[in-house]
Amino acid sequence: MNKVIKPGAFSAEQARSAGKPSRAEAEAAVRTLIRWAGDDPEREGLVGTPDRVVRSYEEFFAGYEGDPREMLARTFEETDGYDEMVILRDIRLESYCEHHMVPIIGKAHVGYLPRNRVVGISKLARVVEAYAKRLQIQEKMTAQIANCIQEVLDPRGVGVVIEAAHQCMTTRGVHKPGVTMLTSRMLGTFRENEATRKEFLAMIGKTTGGYG
Ligand SMILES: [Zn+2]
Repeated sequence: MNKVIKPGAFSAEQARSAGKPSRAEAEAAVRTLIRWAGDDPEREGLVGTPDRVVRSYEEFFAGYEGDPREMLARTFEETDGYDEMVILRDIRLESYCEHHMVPIIGKAHVGYLPRNRVVGISKLARVVEAYAKRLQIQEKMTAQIANCIQEVLDPRGVGVVIEAAHQCMTTRGVHKPGVTMLTSRMLGTFRENEATRKEFLAMIGKTTGGYG
């Protein structure tokens, strides 16, 4: 059967590359926002700002480049039978709320129970970063990180816990500084086996409440 491709039925990736504005257009958009805020983009202190903002965006949203799955492709099988949990905790997380485009800052904790392959630990941090440096909601990001590790490494189980403060809550709207949001995604043995889940939560220092 032929695949019928409807106009507009692009993948998110195609849409992004096909519709990507030029740097000049992006800088013009920043000048518009400066005027919208009530200032003059031509005054001395602001004249270089659109360029700096666009450069910052390249860093903030670097996660759209590259495939997080490829970061986990290289694994090690010489583990001398290591079959206990591997945990990377307190991974600094910098993301951006897709509703307000302001920072989500926090920590991610990632654990997995290897089947027979392990991955370099920096790779787990890179997967977190690849999903964080996009426009996100915390719930989706948590699930994406866990799903990616589960699908590519095929471990016995995966646990991901993210705790983060959302600047859209602290600097605007309800103005509630100090509030952090906690999300978790448990797969495989982390979901099915209470002892495994408890061990993970204890090792990342989250022993109380909310995880069953
Ligand atoms: Zn928000």
